[in-house]
Amino acid sequence: MPISIIFSFFLMITPTSAHATDLNYFKNTYEESEQDFDRIFKQIKQKNPKSDVLEFQYSQGTIKSYLIPAATPENLLIMISGTHGVEGFTGSAVQRNLLAQLPELKKTSVLMIHGFNLYGFKNKRRVNEHNIDLNRNFIIDRKGFTSDDQAYTGLNSFLNPNEAPSLNLFSRPLFVLRSVANIAQHSMESLRRSILQGQYSVPQGIFYGGAQIEPQAGLIEAVIAEFIGKKYQKIFIVDLHTGYGERGRLHLMSGKSTDANSIELLKIFEKSEIDFADAKNFYAVQGELLHYFINRLKIRSAFNTSGVTFEYGTLDSQKTFGSIESLRRMILENQNFHFPADSKTSTDIQNMFVEMFYPSDPSWRSEVLRQSDEKMKKVFHYLEN
Ligand SMILES: [Zn+2]
Repeated sequence: MPISIIFSFFLMITPTSAHATDLNYFKNTYEESEQDFDRIFKQIKQKNPKSDVLEFQYSQGTIKSYLIPAATPENLLIMISGTHGVEGFTGSAVQRNLLAQLPELKKTSVLMIHGFNLYGFKNKRRVNEHNIDLNRNFIIDRKGFTSDDQAYTGLNSFLNPNEAPSLNLFSRPLFVLRSVANIAQHSMESLRRSILQGQYSVPQGIFYGGAQIEPQAGLIEAVIAEFIGKKYQKIFIVDLHTGYGERGRLHLMSGKSTDANSIELLKIFEKSEIDFADAKNFYAVQGELLHYFINRLKIRSAFNTSGVTFEYGTLDSQKTFGSIESLRRMILENQNFHFPADSKTSTDIQNMFVEMFYPSDPSWRSEVLRQSDEKMKKVFHYLEN
């Protein structure tokens, strides 16, 4: 086939909703993502010399937070990527895509926290170096906190097998059968809740929230002290995630529909766009970073702070079979981390896991950017007016 025909074939299948070059924001390693971030930030700093970087050092390296101040700063957008390590590939792409085409902002400064769970981003894990899920770790009142882990610990041998995983012909149908039996016994809703809400009893298990707050709490304080102080009136936080929900759709996830934060979100987005935690197929999370961050900002000053989780769906996990497959990949990856299988099986498990949180499909990636642009226009409208 002549090259020109092959080339035009590729042009035909290239999605039209975003520029093909935008897909270059989706990198394969943390290091490439970080280099590209620095490249874009350098260009911004030339135009806006007051732009600044805060470097937070801890055992796993340096987490960078980038501030691009408005001409007369009144309000602030904070965007966080990589709270769940491996999800940072998409989050980082969304951040850079937004920065590279940042609109003229009169009164809204922009703060980008890049790779919040640096270890997980570098090592393609969802959890951090202590097997902790950082979006289950930020308990606001640790002293008075107890988690009802009874249903989870009852399922422990199913969720966290203590042997090397295998991917033979029967492993998947067997897992589906065991899941269906568990669903029949406990109901889908209560299973989803008891697994996804976070647990504080099994340190090697999935969705472990940890016994104490992780070092990133220090990053939050440093960012507030260095970049926020008491400067702003309205603050809006976007925490970027992937993996839950309808494939190719950006879900806006919030707490219960009656929460003050949810009511603020209704000023920015339409009701139909938001997935509240009390809606069917959605769930509330203990120790969520977003609510902790909002709480810290409220304690430090009387900011009007609100925020949302952007969740880009990948496996249709709001449906029964999608959620079983999501759970299967979560379990396999964690099991393989603690009880490594042979190298072929390990690689297959790793690839399935990464594909769940970072789909390679170009049309998925291009939809991520398109839908983010659409929602961020509304956020900027809220902050600029
Ligand atoms: Zn996540």
